[in-house]
Amino acid sequence: MSHYSTTLPTGAKLWLLNLGIIDLDAANVLAGANQFPVGLPPQPHERRDLIMIAALVYHPDVGLVLFDTGSCEDVIKSWGAKALECGPRIWDKSVHGLPEAIKATGAGNITDVKAVVLSHLHSDHAGGLEHFFGTDVEIWCHEEELKNAFWTCATGMEQGTYVKDYLVVDRLNWKTFSEQTFEIYRGVTLHHCPGHTAGSIAMELELEQTGSVVITGDVFHVKENYEQGIHPGTLTRDFNDWHRSRTYIRSLVQRKKAKVVLGHEASYFHALKASPEYTE
Ligand SMILES: [Zn+2]
Repeated sequence: MSHYSTTLPTGAKLWLLNLGIIDLDAANVLAGANQFPVGLPPQPHERRDLIMIAALVYHPDVGLVLFDTGSCEDVIKSWGAKALECGPRIWDKSVHGLPEAIKATGAGNITDVKAVVLSHLHSDHAGGLEHFFGTDVEIWCHEEELKNAFWTCATGMEQGTYVKDYLVVDRLNWKTFSEQTFEIYRGVTLHHCPGHTAGSIAMELELEQTGSVVITGDVFHVKENYEQGIHPGTLTRDFNDWHRSRTYIRSLVQRKKAKVVLGHEASYFHALKASPEYTE
């Protein structure tokens, strides 16, 4: 086991960012949703508004650290019109654009970001890497995620999850870790939690006043994934791993009495302070 009991230095702050909403059929994130008995007339399909949640951390030793980046700006070009007809993005650049959302925190500009940590490399979390092209900002993810993202994208075996726009070797300063738990900075620990993808991670922050906050990325998209153990259907790459990761995070949260932020769940997002308010 690791020895990650350090706390973020005094003065650390956490802002939760809303980088826009994807309006999706619930069956995309909840196994078994929108399945009806054969005898019923056509039923309305339940839909979910999924917030693209990111986090900005001011770390006194490092500066600004960004966790997840939302989508790219031009999703029609990147995701295609057909995908957006089924899952429209509700997005206003002046509010949900990554540079704009960072600026609205009052903590600085996107050019002040010293490092980016990605929960995983799906296009609604890593699309915003376009803002870091050609910079030397460190882009961190789990080794398994980087390998798997490039492989699935290069072979075409997955469509619409990983996108080649930001899976580039020469314009981003990629960094990976391969451990189960990795204390990347004092008080900031990354946990490998595979299942949704091979290299999904959760980030744990140990804040001086609030205590532990665990940001799960897409290990859990919505509350039923986390609370009831309903996996996210076809977005699950390994069911056994996913259930192990769920147990792992729930046990971590219980042990640390942590607050939890899920990948896209509005009710958990609003349970913590959202930018420009912050948590210390
Ligand atoms: Zn995902």
